[in-house]
Amino acid sequence: AETVLITQQSHEELYKILEQNKVEDHSQHKLVVVSVSPQSRASLAAKFNLNIQETAQKLTAFFKQLGVHHVFDTTFSRNFSLLENQREFIQRYRRRQEEKKALPMLASACPGWICYAEKTHGSFIIPYVSVIRSPQQVMGSLVKKYFAKEKNLKPSQIYHVTVMPCYDKKLEASRPDFFSQEYETRDVDCVITTGEVLRMLEQEGISLPDVNPCPLDSQFSSVVDNEPLGHEGGGSGGYLEHIFKYAAQELFGLHVDEITYKPLKNKDFQEVTLERDGEVLLQFALAYGFRNIQNLVQKLKRGRCAYHYVEVMACPSGCLNGGGQIRAEGVTGKDLLQRVEQLYTSARTESPEQNRSVKELYEQWLGGEDSPGVKEALHTQYHAVEKATSGLGIKW
Ligand code: SF4
Repeated sequence: AETVLITQQSHEELYKILEQNKVEDHSQHKLVVVSVSPQSRASLAAKFNLNIQETAQKLTAFFKQLGVHHVFDTTFSRNFSLLENQREFIQRYRRRQEEKKALPMLASACPGWICYAEKTHGSFIIPYVSVIRSPQQVMGSLVKKYFAKEKNLKPSQIYHVTVMPCYDKKLEASRPDFFSQEYETRDVDCVITTGEVLRMLEQEGISLPDVNPCPLDSQFSSVVDNEPLGHEGGGSGGYLEHIFKYAAQELFGLHVDEITYKPLKNKDFQEVTLERDGEVLLQFALAYGFRNIQNLVQKLKRGRCAYHYVEVMACPSGCLNGGGQIRAEGVTGKDLLQRVEQLYTSARTESPEQNRSVKELYEQWLGGEDSPGVKEALHTQYHAVEKATSGLGIKW
């Protein structure tokens, strides 16, 4: 089933749709939207020795030359994921006394980890996992539920592609939770990896530096003066930092400027603590990679996990090092990763609260915070699966 999935969700499928758009019968045409992840952009920038702005503009131009109508940026949809994660954490923290599994809250943006959690630890682990959709799936909602209406189209008349650092994002996009029975369409129709974008460039005989840049789409992108923005925090989305700072302020009235990570067993298992007068108020951790995740789950099972929040990611070093990123050639993997990290963090940042379009969409589209609209478009659910099998990118 997973092989079928890869064939269905590949750059070849995108080419088919673009070809179909050239036939005379307009009833077959689809509006093609590509949403690019900032991790993929950083990987392409490193490959071609470009800066982030050049990469964004040239990549947009490349897709538009092929016939893509809109190129968005999942940094924009990540604003919703971050805001919802912050709120979910506060709610869980406040009900931690009466609800045993309210804490620690475990991140849910990594399908490699979710796949493992559902299949291996099912009903035990699910109550701990955040119910918020990942940036990819929030973008799915924005494009198929909001943008389609704005364009006066059925969701099925839009073909939505995401560019991701990760093969497991293909699995995420194909979850039944993200399929509309009514319109018989997925929120994200096709996921292509950064490596597949490189293959498309090669197939077209194009080197990204030679592409003439074009202006960035600003509707579902975090852009100022044609420059893409990023978020503070690490290359896997910065969830820990955002939630930590927000919770310190909201729960204890403490302003945290800078986060200090304390490495534990290795650089993929680190801790952040908020203390006042010797009392630990908040204790967060990040656990990346299989070994650290296994340790975390064991601690949880033994009732010996003191964390309030854990940013769990399946890949060692997180998404910038995802299995779908461009591989190192002529440099060591470590040097390449360092370069990708530098590029990723070189983008100017904004906080999700600062983005005016996000605020407007909460009001106009979703019906305000904590509304049924928010639950439908920004939240999801998980399912315990009996038999243990593996994800796509990660072998458990
Ligand atoms: Fe994908 Fe790896 Fe990121 Fe998880 S950590 S979302 S498996 S790239």
